[in-house]
Amino acid sequence: MMLYDWMKRELVKMERKYPALLQIRSAGRSADGRQILEAALGNDRAPVHVLVQASMHGREYINTKLAVRQLWHSLEHGDMETYPHVCLHVLPMVNPDGVTISQTGINGIRNPGLKRLLQQCKQKDQESRPGIMETKDYWKRWKANARGVDLNRNFSAGWKEYRGPAAPSCQGYKGKRAESEPETQAVLSLHQRYPLACVLSYHSSGKKIFWDYGGSEKARKDQRRLAHLTAAATGYPLVSVRTSGQDQAGCSDYFVLHCEIPAVTIENGEGDCPLKEEEFPAIWQANRDLFQKVMGQY
Ligand SMILES: [Zn+2]
Repeated sequence: MMLYDWMKRELVKMERKYPALLQIRSAGRSADGRQILEAALGNDRAPVHVLVQASMHGREYINTKLAVRQLWHSLEHGDMETYPHVCLHVLPMVNPDGVTISQTGINGIRNPGLKRLLQQCKQKDQESRPGIMETKDYWKRWKANARGVDLNRNFSAGWKEYRGPAAPSCQGYKGKRAESEPETQAVLSLHQRYPLACVLSYHSSGKKIFWDYGGSEKARKDQRRLAHLTAAATGYPLVSVRTSGQDQAGCSDYFVLHCEIPAVTIENGEGDCPLKEEEFPAIWQANRDLFQKVMGQY
């Protein structure tokens, strides 16, 4: 079964079983017509709101499985009644088209125009970025959305300065303009609707947490608190973005630099993506109590 369908089914089951604690909504729609689903965990009218997003990069879809399990865990064992003033907005799969491409290749995409564009991406990537990936693994290693835009390079923080491929590609293309993609807009719609206290972004791999995206003194203080909390919960080391020279125009850059909202990027697992199923138990172990720890600080 496709991970997207599995996720949808699990979310519907959760909402049916725990209607007072969980609501499922659509935050937007991908180019190939898939809903970008949001699970609101807790009290929607709470004063504190937290955004958690996973699978912004197609091939990193193991994090969708993690987010779904974290939601179930919170509902069943998380003592949700002890956090009446916090609501967690979880996007378990920001990039459903990209995940579908990584899982099944181009046949998973329905729109003929998108299929043509994807074939062009492949041809161009293999001509202009030789060695970027083996032909047989090309779709499997897909990171972008179905329009060949790398969503984590599509946010308007350092977007102009960021270079990278000039045309749609399996990874690294920033799009024709900042926030051009429906998936980027879906993430931003939550920022428009709720006063977000912090943002957690799940990626893979590396078993580390990127933090320290710069910003004002106050922004850095808030980031430090969130970074230490997530590092303590997961056991992952912290890596400063300012001193390690990461690419810009990412989701965390945007929230920290533009909105002064603390954000961290958690890189789960070890090895090349898509990660092997054997990676999951360790990923689960590291992240099992993170939702509760984050909610507990407010
Ligand atoms: Zn990623």
